[in-house]
Amino acid sequence: MSSPWRSEFPFLFLALLVGAFLSKVFDGFVVAFWFVLLVYLARHLFYANRLLTWLRGGKSGQPPQGDGVWEEIYYLIYRLRRRSKRRKKQLIRMLERFRTATAALPDATVVLGARDEIDWFNEAAERMLGLRRNDIGQQIGNLLRYPKFSQYLQNADYRSTVSIPSPLNENIQLEIRIVPYGDDLRLLVAQDVTQLRFMERVRSDFVANVSHELRTPLTVLKGYLETLNNANGTVPESTLKVFRRMEEQTARMESLVDGLLSLTRLESSTNQLMQKRVDVPLMLQSICDEVKLLADDHPSIELVVETGAGLLGAEQELRGAFSNLIVNAMKYTPPAGRVTVRWRDEGKGARLDVEDTGPGIAQHHLPRLTERFYRVSVEGCKNKGGSGLGLAIVKHALTRHGAELKIASTLGRGSCFSCCFPEERVLRGDFRTDAKIAQRL
Ligand code: ADP
Repeated sequence: MSSPWRSEFPFLFLALLVGAFLSKVFDGFVVAFWFVLLVYLARHLFYANRLLTWLRGGKSGQPPQGDGVWEEIYYLIYRLRRRSKRRKKQLIRMLERFRTATAALPDATVVLGARDEIDWFNEAAERMLGLRRNDIGQQIGNLLRYPKFSQYLQNADYRSTVSIPSPLNENIQLEIRIVPYGDDLRLLVAQDVTQLRFMERVRSDFVANVSHELRTPLTVLKGYLETLNNANGTVPESTLKVFRRMEEQTARMESLVDGLLSLTRLESSTNQLMQKRVDVPLMLQSICDEVKLLADDHPSIELVVETGAGLLGAEQELRGAFSNLIVNAMKYTPPAGRVTVRWRDEGKGARLDVEDTGPGIAQHHLPRLTERFYRVSVEGCKNKGGSGLGLAIVKHALTRHGAELKIASTLGRGSCFSCCFPEERVLRGDFRTDAKIAQRL
């Protein structure tokens, strides 16, 4: 590429020659200078005008003819235009592909702007959310008027999803997720989960019905076995042994059925969480009193209540969760060991720790402990016949209260199961004022 001076040099040189010639002929330097300058300027104006006409025409054809520095300017602009045209074509092709792909998506997809206004949506969004072309620019919250959805938009916590019925058909259940991207842009994806919810309900109804139906024959069986077990003297000892085993297994089946029923109740979406004021210190005291009666050779248990705070929630569910953890600690800790139940205020919430000096659990089991029927064989423990449902129930009950179950354990040292409740669940100063209660039971 030559410098603009080099391409313009012959014209400058020519202008100087003509200027010199004219000043000689007319014997006037100033007149000749102005004349040459005007001609030179007129030439540039002529080419600038040509360029403007070409640019205004917006055609992609060849650039106009020019000479000197203008030839190069025309060529460079032409090259830039060609390049940007090619890039534009590529972008259009990409956009087309993206649009065809999103249009083919079975899920409704809506692009939202910074103020939750609709920028673009696919065909599925028309079918599922009832959006129309003239809704573009409208705020999504004005079109999907569901309190749950408005709350979801307001909270802006996009890790979770929200379920709402379709505005076009109440029987269609949609699960909505918002994914932030770019600068202040968000993608709203709505998936039809009607079939999935239906299958979940069928499964949970089936488990609930089977568990419920099993209860009656189990109660009858238990009654007969109790009678047979009491028939001392008339039945040989070896047969009595068999009856006892049968009674043990019936009790186990009963606890399984109860566990499954509790889980189904907790999972049921129609089961709204009660919002009662729960006196946690009192509840813990009564659970600790009860667990002592479960076995004669139980480990020592200490209740430390550091705060008089209570909780807002479902009393039965919280009681179920706390007693499951305390019973487990007592069950898996040898008689010489110690169980500590501690209720404390953490400033940003409250926490219940159930700590024991039992056998502990290997690290690789910890992430799976809250799965249903997941059990770890605990060596030397006399109570091996658990259902494996206890911790699943605890997790469900806590999740319904917005709380988290944390498990820490070291093999050979013991375990600590912690229930961490969020601030909005904690009721301070409602219950015991003499917060420092420590009791060795
Ligand atoms: P289970 O009815 O078998 O106790 P859970 O769901 O309550 O069922 O517990 C699952 C498994 O977690 C148990 O099988 C047990 O191995 C282990 N576990 C629970 N609590 C403790 C504890 N405090 N110490 C040691 N292991 C425990």
